[in-house]
Formats: sequence, structure tokens, C-alpha cells
Amino acid sequence: MYIIMLGAPGSGKGTQSKRLAEEFGFIQFSTGDMLREEATQEDEFGREIKKIMAAGQLVPDEVITRALSNKLDKTKRTQSIIFDGFPRTIEQAEALDVIMSKRGTKIDRVIELDVDDDAIVERISGRFTCTECGAGYHEKFQKTKVPGVCDSCNSVTFEKREDDNAVTVRERLKLFYEVTSPIISYYSDRGILDTVNGMLGIDTISNELNEIIRKNA
Ligand code: AMP
Repeated sequence: MYIIMLGAPGSGKGTQSKRLAEEFGFIQFSTGDMLREEATQEDEFGREIKKIMAAGQLVPDEVITRALSNKLDKTKRTQSIIFDGFPRTIEQAEALDVIMSKRGTKIDRVIELDVDDDAIVERISGRFTCTECGAGYHEKFQKTKVPGVCDSCNSVTFEKREDDNAVTVRERLKLFYEVTSPIISYYSDRGILDTVNGMLGIDTISNELNEIIRKNA
């Protein structure tokens, strides 16, 4: 089964994709994670990616599409995948269709997490992750059980994303509305889109998403 998780920055698509991966055994293909890893490389390509991400801009379609396609080639055809952060442009959506049909398969469902703009900045500015295991938290909405200690691995070191600042978030949001949101009708026209209220609690959203997956499995 192939699922796309769509939503503005801060809509919770990363968190919910991770949960679905754990619940149903999907592999989570996060293009943001792929690029963050690339950006740690001390070569010209790594530095270029880092610069684009820090500015809240999008990496060129052909670069990200090739990276995703290479990663897919190394994944078994029977493996269920959840795409988190891809596609982000109509060109990427069209390229994904081509990749899928070459693979002899197709996108089964697209899930849009719908959130209020005002909530996004608060959500993004409060989020942080464990440096050791990558578990995600939020200063207000998803605190660690013991202050300053990771629930998953007991580490005491945390980090914030470099692009989670007010200026970059505004640029990322602008791009979402201008470039990414047209994808929503691309998929709703095909009758494979589900829209979930992303303003609900994390567990309530998870339950709704689990329902959608079970219904379509
Ligand atoms: P994310 O973790 O999904 O919020 O992505 C973080 C950043 O990575 C974005 O702001 C973009 O700079 C870059 N990025 C992630 N996915 C894509 C994509 N599909 N196309 C272009 N740029 C991307």
C-alpha cells in the first residue's frame, strides 16, 4: 500500500507518518529527513542543500525526485510506504506517478492534514527532538514525561531544527500555499484524497488515520 501524507509545515505529518509506520509496518519516506542527512555532508552538494533548507525554499524537483526514485529502487515492491513531505509540487506529483507506474503500482490514498495558519507558528516554534534517538516532542503539546529526559531512550540532549524559526516558517508556509496546495485537487479529482482535521489531539488524529488505512487495506 502506498500513502502520501500532505500538509503544511507543522501540520503534524511527520509525527503521524511515524505512528502509522509503527502501527502498520509502513516504511516512512521523509524527504525532509533524507535532505537533512544530505546537508550534514561537507561537500558542495551538502552545503547547497543546507543553504536551500535554511532559507525555507524547495530543493529542485529533479534533485529530490531522483533521490526518492533511487531510494525506492532499493525497496521491495511488496513493502508498504508512506511518503512524508513528497510530492511538494505538481511536477513532483507527476514524476511520482511515472515512478509508480514503472514499479507496476500506484498511490492508494492521499491524506491531507488540515490546520489553521495561526497554530502553525506556535506548533513549529515549540518542537524539538532527542539528539540520540530522534523522538519528537513539543514544549506545550507533547512534553517529555520527566522534564529534560527523553521518554524513549533516557537521553538528556535535545535539538531544534535550524529551519524552525519565524522567518523561515513564513517562507515555508508561503511556498506551501503557492506551490504545494494545488496538489490537493490533483488527488481529490482522482477520488483518493482524505482530509483530516489536524487541529484535533495527536491521539484522535492517529485514530482517524488508522481507520482510513484499515478501510483501504
Ligand atoms: P520537511 O521536514 O518535510 O518540513 O522538509 C524540510 C525542508 O526540506 C523543506 O523546507 C525543503 O527545503 C526540503 N524538502 C523536503 N521535501 C522536499 C520536496 N519534496 N521537494 C523540495 N524540497 C523538499
